[in-house]
Amino acid sequence: MKKCPFCGKENDINAIKCSCGYYFDKSKYVETSSESATNQTKIYKNSSRGNFIIANITIIVFYIIGLISIIAGFVTWNNGDKIIGLSSIGTALVIIAFAEIIKILLSIEKNTRK
Ligand SMILES: [Zn+2]
Repeated sequence: MKKCPFCGKENDINAIKCSCGYYFDKSKYVETSSESATNQTKIYKNSSRGNFIIANITIIVFYIIGLISIIAGFVTWNNGDKIIGLSSIGTALVIIAFAEIIKILLSIEKNTRK
């Protein structure tokens, strides 16, 4: 029998790990922890890839909304409602500017991760 120095429980002589979580064999512990670290990195990479896709979709949606607003603004302008038309174009430009900012932030994050 092998007594756990952490919790005092008697374990099997071949036991690598006590039920309390204490590792008798340190080399096994290092192996396991680096393995889980690799898995965590994988999960992190996968989730950040998902975020990139969501961010790219957001940019595309912003551009579409912006373009529609510009067209609607010009149509409204032509129909005589100059103030509404102008504000619509202004809103569209702000939306497109947001999309540009997201794009710049994304490229900065991509570069820092390499
Ligand atoms: Zn223990």
